[in-house]
Amino acid sequence: MQNSLGNPKNTIEIIQKYEFAFQKKFGQNFLIDTHVLEKIIDAAGITKEDCVVEIGPGIGTMTQYLAEYGGRVVAVEIDANLLPILGETLKDYPNVQIINDDILKVDMNRLVQEYNKGRPVKVVANLPYYITTPIIMGLFESGVPIDNITVMVQKEVAQRMQAGPGTKDYGALSLAVQYYAEAYIVANVPPNCFIPRPNVGSAVIRLTRYQEPPVKVDDPLLMFRLIRASFNQRRKTLQNGLNNSPEVSFTREQIMSAIGSLGLSPSVRGEALTLEQFGRLANYFTRNA
Ligand code: SAM
Repeated sequence: MQNSLGNPKNTIEIIQKYEFAFQKKFGQNFLIDTHVLEKIIDAAGITKEDCVVEIGPGIGTMTQYLAEYGGRVVAVEIDANLLPILGETLKDYPNVQIINDDILKVDMNRLVQEYNKGRPVKVVANLPYYITTPIIMGLFESGVPIDNITVMVQKEVAQRMQAGPGTKDYGALSLAVQYYAEAYIVANVPPNCFIPRPNVGSAVIRLTRYQEPPVKVDDPLLMFRLIRASFNQRRKTLQNGLNNSPEVSFTREQIMSAIGSLGLSPSVRGEALTLEQFGRLANYFTRNA
């Protein structure tokens, strides 16, 4: 690709030409590594059939790749100072549409309807780390038609999303993500792959959305309340965690029966439970309490 911004020289040149001032509050760390860019395209499985939504195109580094490999690209960028730069770096790509907005305020269902007739899109991003969780959970919870989300996130966050029961990284985020998608860490990415360098490590994670959730739960919101209550007091037993939580209003007897119904010890901790067990726990309450 000519003038690829994955080449640090081209990125520095364009930043200097426009006297662009990086804004820390927008999490602006631009990718400058072609291998990482290719890995992301590959992991997301981008083809000419795809409509890709990019969150935070920055100066258009990944957008160039998405436009080369994908069909249509819709990129949502909050920082209006980047618009003239994107006008130049993406001028050869008529298949790219830039939307100047805050991704957390965009009606994504409407966007997918407008640009892809409501068919599933692929979401790709080098995410602004300060809003990783609201972006990802917002996409899942609002039922936006999505094939997969392939994103750069802080390394520790990627590990939490992929973690299983009994590990130190396992928590409410692992269960929330794994209810909606299969999580797979594609690559770890060191700080020197960005300008400016972030002071944390990064990782690319792919979340492939399930057609149907892997567990059948009558009331998923109740299950998520139980999960949050269990992990809020990580060192406590599941029983005490649920009993002390303002989010859960069952009596101690109901909680003990529910835990017993799963064949678990009364001293079990929440961090030992699988997603399937949290689903059964929630179903016990909706059906018996
Ligand atoms: N994609 C570019 C790259 O890989 O070099 C830039 C990635 S940079 C980590 C994050 C980008 O997200 C920045 O361009 C930033 O301005 C943008 N951004 C931050 N908050 C945003 C928001 N709420 N909505 C849309 N874009 C946002």
